[in-house]
Amino acid sequence: MPEIRQLDKHVADLIAAGEVVERPASVAKELLENALDAGTSAIVAEIERGGLTYLRVTDNGCGIAPDQLPTAFLRHATSKLRTAEDLAAIGTLGFRGEALAAISAVSRVDILSRQTGSDEGAVLHLEGGAAGEVRPSGCPEGTTIVVRDLFYNTPARMKFMKKDSAEGTAVTGIVTHLALSHPEVSFKLLRDGAEVLHTPGDGQLQSAVYAALGRDFALHLLPIRGSGGEVQVNGFVTEPLHGHGTRARQIFFVNGRFVKSQLLSAALEEAYRNQIMKGKFPGCVLHISVPVRAVDVNVHPAKTVVKFAADKPVFDAVYYTVLDALNAQNRPAAPEKRESAFYQSMTAEQFRAHAHQTAPPPAKKPPVGSYTSRPAAPIVPRGQSTQVRDVAPAPGVPFAAPVVSGGREVTYHITPPAPAKKPEPEPVQQTMEPPAEAPWRIVGEVLKTYIICEDAHRTVWLIDKHAAHERIRFDALKANTEPMMSQFLLTPLTVDLDADSCAAALENLAVLEQFGFVCEDFGGGTLLVRQIPADIRLEDAAATVEELARKLALGRADPAGARDELLHTVACKSAIKAGMDTSPAEMAALVKKVQSGEIQYCPHGRPVKYRLTEYDIEKMFKRA
Ligand code: ADP
Ligand code: MG
Repeated sequence: MPEIRQLDKHVADLIAAGEVVERPASVAKELLENALDAGTSAIVAEIERGGLTYLRVTDNGCGIAPDQLPTAFLRHATSKLRTAEDLAAIGTLGFRGEALAAISAVSRVDILSRQTGSDEGAVLHLEGGAAGEVRPSGCPEGTTIVVRDLFYNTPARMKFMKKDSAEGTAVTGIVTHLALSHPEVSFKLLRDGAEVLHTPGDGQLQSAVYAALGRDFALHLLPIRGSGGEVQVNGFVTEPLHGHGTRARQIFFVNGRFVKSQLLSAALEEAYRNQIMKGKFPGCVLHISVPVRAVDVNVHPAKTVVKFAADKPVFDAVYYTVLDALNAQNRPAAPEKRESAFYQSMTAEQFRAHAHQTAPPPAKKPPVGSYTSRPAAPIVPRGQSTQVRDVAPAPGVPFAAPVVSGGREVTYHITPPAPAKKPEPEPVQQTMEPPAEAPWRIVGEVLKTYIICEDAHRTVWLIDKHAAHERIRFDALKANTEPMMSQFLLTPLTVDLDADSCAAALENLAVLEQFGFVCEDFGGGTLLVRQIPADIRLEDAAATVEELARKLALGRADPAGARDELLHTVACKSAIKAGMDTSPAEMAALVKKVQSGEIQYCPHGRPVKYRLTEYDIEKMFKRA
């Protein structure tokens, strides 16, 4: 019988390290959270080669006493948690006392620290978890940790690492999220020597958003502040006219922690229903606070999921707060026009200085138990109309009416009642060979969306031109095994992506090229797009790349299944759209395909045509 032995410390540490230290981004997260816990006001992080060879975090927090340096690297060594009861009232971010032990087990670490008010600091070197001697050293107050050669002693783990650029982008994502959840702390990130992010740390979320997410995003935001019951919501949301191609810019924090949440996305998007263009998504940076007991925080530190004790109060608080703000912006107001123009023309430096000067006093808590919303001054002047999309037919018309629900399009069908007595003319058999008789007569187009035709059997057909064309494009793309025709862009496009999407895109540059998009890494989560498919409109190109990247990120596990998804995107974006002008020749070509029965449904399963018999129409007019 094999002997049962306890694993030696090194092996145990390696196993534990696998849990906490997945990739450079997880190291960065632990070190940054430690710095925040230490009360720092400024953090500088630096990475080389995606953080795999070099990752440094410097803070000006409380520091660690020299004799405590080795202790900090022991497993379950923490200054933050003493009893099991403490678990219930976690105030600090890290709480397992494992991070430093785990990180040092799989890398070479140097730590340099001086306690606040102390004359001298100390340094310590660790290699694969084994600590050297603590030596006195001169250094600034605070702590610097340098992690070199991550996974040098665990080659199996090393194999899982993506390209440096993808790892670096993931680190950038972590720093971005922490910077947005701590506007009172200045974050600076250097990536291979270049500064990719620098927030002022002036306590203003707006400054952090501007510095971390860029001017283009920050210029089109509405401030949000409100509460419902015990749930408080504040931050910024996208102006309805400036929706994004994906959900990448929906950034949520719950009690200060970055989370991904379908519930929160749904609440946000529901508020924009009928206000945002089809296929566009609102972005946001929203902080949601809920009582600690109403949320499950005891999840794996690397996970970003959140569980609420009750979903509805949270959904409602987000939904109503955002809705109020969107409605408020439609009301005439004349706030700080001059101010807004200034904002628009500021450089990042000027902006930081300005934000610092005009920092408002801390906001008062809104009253509990009702939905309150404070229509704060808009950042930029905006147009009056937000009713971007309105293709719904007149009431009472039996129609397939696409409506936007939660950002996804659903179609409601109002089916006319079945005939009671009068025999109906032979319905056209859709699956038959193309009819020998005359082609459908095209009567015209209504709502710039639906083509109306009449066939030889006195039946009227409504054709959704986008759905039909999308199907035609999809079938053609799917049948075509040749690479797609590309067009060079005179000025390359830059497309900002979230960390996951960007990593997936960079891993799949060849796949994107097959779809006609020639892209390269532009650093900092941005893709540079040099060529796009010949039949994609320039104004749709960025949104298409965003969507493809998101689908690549989601479909990682199943590249084969992902292909159809990607085809959907390209087909949809290259198809004529509802609301666009369509020439008679284009209409005729579409109608021919539909009439032949070759296409029945769009690639998403919605019908492309709708039949109204003569009897249906007579019923409507009470003739039958
Ligand atoms: P935890 O954060 O869960 O306590 P860690 O392994 O991350 O566990 O850190 C162990 C201990 O080392 C912390 O509890 C803290 O006392 C100390 N420490 C780590 N990083 C810093 C830092 N940047 N500044 C001050 N103290 C730190
Ligand atoms: Mg920690």
